[in-house]
Amino acid sequence: MSDKNRIPYKIYIEESEMPSAWYNLRADMINKPAPLLHPETHEKMTAKDLAGVFCDELIAQELDDTTAYFPIPEEIRNFYKMYRPAPLVRAYCLEEKLGTPAKIYYKFEGNNTSGSHKLNSAIAQAYYAKNQGLVGVTTETGAGQWGTALSMACSYLGLDCKVYMVKCSYEQKPHRREVMRTYGASVTPSPSTETKIGRKILAEHPDTVGSLGCAISEAVETATNTEGYRYVLGSVLNQVMLHQSIIGLETKIALDKYNIKPDVIIGCAGGGSNLGGLIAPFMGEKIRGEANYRFIAVEPESCPSFTRGKYAYDYCDTGMVCPLSKMYTLGSSFMPAATHAGGLRYHGMNSTLSQLYADGLMEATTVKQTEVFAAAEEFARVEGILPAPESSHAIKVALDIAKECVKTGEEKTIVFGLTGTGYFDMMSYEKFHDGRMVDSAPSDEDIEKAFSKLPHVNE
Ligand SMILES: *Cc1c(COP(=O)(O)O)cnc(C)c1O
Repeated sequence: MSDKNRIPYKIYIEESEMPSAWYNLRADMINKPAPLLHPETHEKMTAKDLAGVFCDELIAQELDDTTAYFPIPEEIRNFYKMYRPAPLVRAYCLEEKLGTPAKIYYKFEGNNTSGSHKLNSAIAQAYYAKNQGLVGVTTETGAGQWGTALSMACSYLGLDCKVYMVKCSYEQKPHRREVMRTYGASVTPSPSTETKIGRKILAEHPDTVGSLGCAISEAVETATNTEGYRYVLGSVLNQVMLHQSIIGLETKIALDKYNIKPDVIIGCAGGGSNLGGLIAPFMGEKIRGEANYRFIAVEPESCPSFTRGKYAYDYCDTGMVCPLSKMYTLGSSFMPAATHAGGLRYHGMNSTLSQLYADGLMEATTVKQTEVFAAAEEFARVEGILPAPESSHAIKVALDIAKECVKTGEEKTIVFGLTGTGYFDMMSYEKFHDGRMVDSAPSDEDIEKAFSKLPHVNE
């Protein structure tokens, strides 16, 4: 191959080539994800039911499974241009180190102060809240990336931002908290005594380190009780996956420039929005019969929603105030161990990805956290980027496949999502380096116990 045709280390697309619309994969799905249900009546949720909790325009996006493209408003596109397009990196250094014939690419979403892909949806949600004339928004944050992203978006647009941060992260990551406060957000450890649901959970589990499901309940309660506020969510919902489609659309534009066809596309799965966004345009091609790809969701063994969960209607939050969503779930009362990938400690999964998984269109696998940190280190030492523990779940599986190719000689093309950086996770890295990190999988009993509290829904 001449030097001219050589694929560069970083495939950048031009600002002018950036996608002008988000892609709604649901429009191309034959089996649509199941509708959201009212938590009490179990009737299909209408826009009116959702209006007290969510912003109007976001509700319209949430409920729409037929419109394929949503134009990205100019103000959001201008914000995107501060940190996008994100590079698609050819991991030449890693390939050489592994001696693999595989070709490895990663889409790097950590190139902004919040350090993750979450800013892609934060700015969209803050924009629609502002447009509706709201005063502020409330939300939860696990590891802190979503809260940080939302703080940045809110301060840019002049909205108030109230964040409930899962207690173990609040304590493990004081610096994240200060970044949020730098951007003007107020941050409360969850469960807190500020809300009815927080007080109830504390009374039942005084030693709890918190969970995303619990922080969501607190944020919803505060939003619905405060004039001019709505609640916004960093993952799980289909509107978030819609905004995150920018990741996959840019990836596809970059790959198409060099006529690269991936064999396998890998992403970590917390609530599913980054993975859903990355794979959306490729999955669309697969469903339409235009191309075939292998998709792999990677989850922590401590919170295995796809691989050990049930495909059932469940509450999105511990307090059972959010709509019911049909998804792969461990049960909303499931409390995952306090592992070091806070962004992946969610009991459920996005409903679109759940349907795709149920239909056999994608795969899922679990990894142990000590293996994840070993992979993170292996990656950091040759590619330079210090990855987030969440992102490193995808790295681990990409490395495994690339190492397999060393044995088989296959020249597989691997694309994975590198969702963010791990600068605020150095306490976790420290534990790993000191040999103090342990692996932990929930027992069947723990999972069965949470399953027994699933709501009974007649479908
Ligand atoms: C939140 C987060 C995740 C999980 O993303 P989902 O879209 O919820 O699956 C992964 N990586 C990083 C760095 C995150 O901040």
